[in-house]
Amino acid sequence: MFMIRLGPMCTSKVAGQVIKLVDCEFCNSKFAYVHRAKATGQSQNAFFLDKERATRRAKLKAMDILEDRLEGNCSPVPCPNCGLYQSEMIEKLRRECGRPLLLAALILIPLGIFMFVGAITVTMLSESADGLQTVVVGAWIFAAVYIFGVIGLLIRRWIVRYSFDPNGYRLTEERFAIAAKFAMTIEQLRRIKLATDATNEN
Ligand SMILES: [Zn+2]
Repeated sequence: MFMIRLGPMCTSKVAGQVIKLVDCEFCNSKFAYVHRAKATGQSQNAFFLDKERATRRAKLKAMDILEDRLEGNCSPVPCPNCGLYQSEMIEKLRRECGRPLLLAALILIPLGIFMFVGAITVTMLSESADGLQTVVVGAWIFAAVYIFGVIGLLIRRWIVRYSFDPNGYRLTEERFAIAAKFAMTIEQLRRIKLATDATNEN
């Protein structure tokens, strides 16, 4: 695609945090945790004449994205009382655990297409030249094995994603350790808030 750049891009990076309050869907106890997020926004400095406004636009975009990530997303923090992750956290952990396999498949797909094009080309050439039959068979076997490998990765990713149970019995200790580190009881949260209010007043 042909593109004309009308000026450099201005980039703004922002980070923020909010306290999320959770009513545990398993044991009905309440807890809280700090959810952090980062975001990047970009805007074009048209003809190098618009830097100030482009910087402001980039920052506004970054802030919009950050707000979405803070309000509409969650961090996987188990309940400190029962040690279980909430449904939205389970969904997030499942997405993350299958991601490396999906990325690997996406990276390998273009090479697979290239192999198929190569196999088709060799097949067409073999019609006008003798002695290429072995190469044709080899090219098709190679391309087929490769594509089955990529399909295998995608199936594996699907299995990993849907069979992974972050609330499974084997991970109980690990979950309680994470909860001890990141989750706050409502009482702890109240004490932190009182301490913060006192510091602000001084
Ligand atoms: Zn709970």
